[in-house]
Amino acid sequence: MDLLGVIFPVKCPVCDEIVGFNKGLICRECKNKLEYIKEPRCKKCGKKVYGDMEEYCMDCIKTVHYFDMGVSLINHKGVGSQSVYRIKYFNKREYIRFYARELVRNNIKLIWSWKIDLIIPVPLSFEKKIKRGFNQAGLLADEISKILNIQMDEYLLERSRNTRPLKEMGRKERKKALEKAFKINKFIKKFRYKNKLPKRVLIVDDIYTTGNTIDACAKVLKEHGVKKVFFMTISNGKA
Ligand SMILES: [Zn+2]
Ligand SMILES: [Zn+2]
Repeated sequence: MDLLGVIFPVKCPVCDEIVGFNKGLICRECKNKLEYIKEPRCKKCGKKVYGDMEEYCMDCIKTVHYFDMGVSLINHKGVGSQSVYRIKYFNKREYIRFYARELVRNNIKLIWSWKIDLIIPVPLSFEKKIKRGFNQAGLLADEISKILNIQMDEYLLERSRNTRPLKEMGRKERKKALEKAFKINKFIKKFRYKNKLPKRVLIVDDIYTTGNTIDACAKVLKEHGVKKVFFMTISNGKA
């Protein structure tokens, strides 16, 4: 018997109602409302591409990414985007278990082919973490780490101190600022990894939009010796 399911009833990530006892982590009808990203997908960012001949989406043809490859579960649209929004702003962290399981279940072959050594969530700024009380990317990374039995490190990658809010900046300026937004915790690098970081890293976040955030993380990791950087996010699309 699922005792935890009795004490903490599972809420559906789409309608937020309690899912019937032992009925899984989502209502069956609600699952159909999520837009899963299916093949063919961009070989770089995992977005849906149209036409079987296309390997990369328009964004990835135009942009050089620092990361190697990634996938997302759903399109950032409709009920899916609302669900992701509620995790962050309405503290619906209980949805994360569903998304972690689905992400892994739907991409297991690909994930094993990546041969990941370490999982890293996109870090929140210290101020935001204090305000929100949790990092949704950290919780997602933690669940994925447990399912895959691969180590997770929430402290190696850090936000640099906030200077100006990104919202006040133009597109180019924002990209530049974002490139400097992350840094490696030198202390962790030295004592946990003896200054030799693992070769293949998986970055976890809630949403992939332009890829700038994942790129900024990948860039700093590669500057510190990581060879391959992959990513997984719940949703993909313009927020
Ligand atoms: Zn539901
Ligand atoms: Zn792409």
